Amino acid sequence: MKTSSPRTILVVGGGIAGLVAARRLAQAGHSVRVLEAGPVPGGRVGQRELRGMRFNTGARLLYPFSKPFNALLDELGLRRNMMAIKGMAARCYGPDDDWLVELMPGLKTLLAPNLGLGDKLGFIAYGAKLLAQRVRTDPDDATTAMAADAVTLADYVRRNLGQRALDQMVKPVFRSTRSWDAKDISAAFFASTMPHMLGLDTVYVPKNGMGQLPAALAAALDVTCEARVLDIALPPSGPATVTAEIAGAQTTLSADLVVCAVEGSLVSDLVPGLPAEDAAFFAGVRYNSLGVVHYKMKRQVTPSMRFFTAEKSRVLSTYQQVKGDLEKGIAPQLYAQMTPEATLHARDNGLTERLDELLRPDVTALYPDLDRDCEDLHNQWIARKLPVFYPGYGASVRTFRDRQEATARRLYFCGDYLAQSLVTGAAASGERAARTIARHWG
Ligand SMILES: Cc1cc2nc3c(=O)[nH]c(=O)nc-3n(C[C@H](O)[C@H](O)[C@H](O)COP(=O)(O)OP(=O)(O)OC[C@H]3O[C@@H](n4cnc5c(N)ncnc54)[C@H](O)[C@@H]3O)c2cc1C
Repeated sequence: MKTSSPRTILVVGGGIAGLVAARRLAQAGHSVRVLEAGPVPGGRVGQRELRGMRFNTGARLLYPFSKPFNALLDELGLRRNMMAIKGMAARCYGPDDDWLVELMPGLKTLLAPNLGLGDKLGFIAYGAKLLAQRVRTDPDDATTAMAADAVTLADYVRRNLGQRALDQMVKPVFRSTRSWDAKDISAAFFASTMPHMLGLDTVYVPKNGMGQLPAALAAALDVTCEARVLDIALPPSGPATVTAEIAGAQTTLSADLVVCAVEGSLVSDLVPGLPAEDAAFFAGVRYNSLGVVHYKMKRQVTPSMRFFTAEKSRVLSTYQQVKGDLEKGIAPQLYAQMTPEATLHARDNGLTERLDELLRPDVTALYPDLDRDCEDLHNQWIARKLPVFYPGYGASVRTFRDRQEATARRLYFCGDYLAQSLVTGAAASGERAARTIARHWG
């Protein structure tokens, strides 16, 4: 059912999903205002500078496989402003040996010395299967790999690629980059993205840092930062109301439509009047957390990246030495990322501001002069890192999205938790919400 075009839309949450939805709605002629709780737009995409340390609020790189997202980058004039990182790889350390893991697996993966002939033949057979899946899967939408939704990533990889590929490649990469344990998540992320990764060996970072993307999106929008929404209500008649704390004062705004683009696990608190079936869906949205320590160093460091298996370290999953940019006042840094288990330990024991105490022994083992060379540090706690697509979650996302898209309503939702745990997934979800509104409301 199409009704007359609304005049006002409030978008709650200025992460990539909210900003993309707002951009498309504004382009369609609606009057759109974004309310963002943080000091700048971007949410889990952005960078911060703190006492000479520079780090990301979330995403560190952009994958190349999403055609709609690449078109958005073109539209924003950002594609020519990208730094390409080719053949990204890390040295992975197990209890007895170490090996190289490719982050964008391709033909080169077959050259890995620790793979036997059987493994290699299995890889080739699976690669052919993946290519056939290209037309059926969308890397921006994990629910397009529904056959993989019901099974754990660990079981899926063991079955398709063998135990060695699971232990030496998939487990360390997923722990170190995504903070996911292969036995806890479904194979939907893997099965929907892998067919589109084959043959691509380059990832991208905006030349001026990840914050360039939300800044470019927000530039053409009406975005109010430090606007924390407290409540979204849909009275039986009249406009939707949004109560927010803006610059220390509580304000109630009204709008014809609201797009709620906050992290899915925060929705129930913001929208107390959700229908029971939507409330049940949101109760099942989960995120993992992450603890990182950034060490500011007095001396230049040699760039390197190391991953650690669970058997090698229970505390440290990723260790990176990052060169300083002394001209820009950015010091050399060590980046130490916690394992999923240590992150839970920190959260459950109130140690989220003392992450260094947990990580320091492992970091000192890798950089023995840490006490001498480290002049400052920052404990970064990310309470909601990535939505967890646990087995069966994709099916509930589909049902929720079908409901949202079936009939016109005044409140719509978007975010990576409704698509794929990636920047490209968040953008796709924002695009989808705007398309749905266009269909429902003109
Ligand atoms: C450490 C880390 C590493 C990652 N690495 C990568 C990577 O390398 N590549 C990749 O593609 N993806 C990566 N991701 C995932 C990617 O960052 C996310 O999938 C994506 O940014 C999510 O966007 P979103 O808009 O759905 O959510 P968010 O960015 O979380 O946006 C939600 C917004 O809502 C705001 N908000 C919340 N509550 C309120 C409220 N009450 N009132 C107003 N505003 C509110 C928040 O401040 C936030 O800005 C990473 C994420 C993290 C955390």
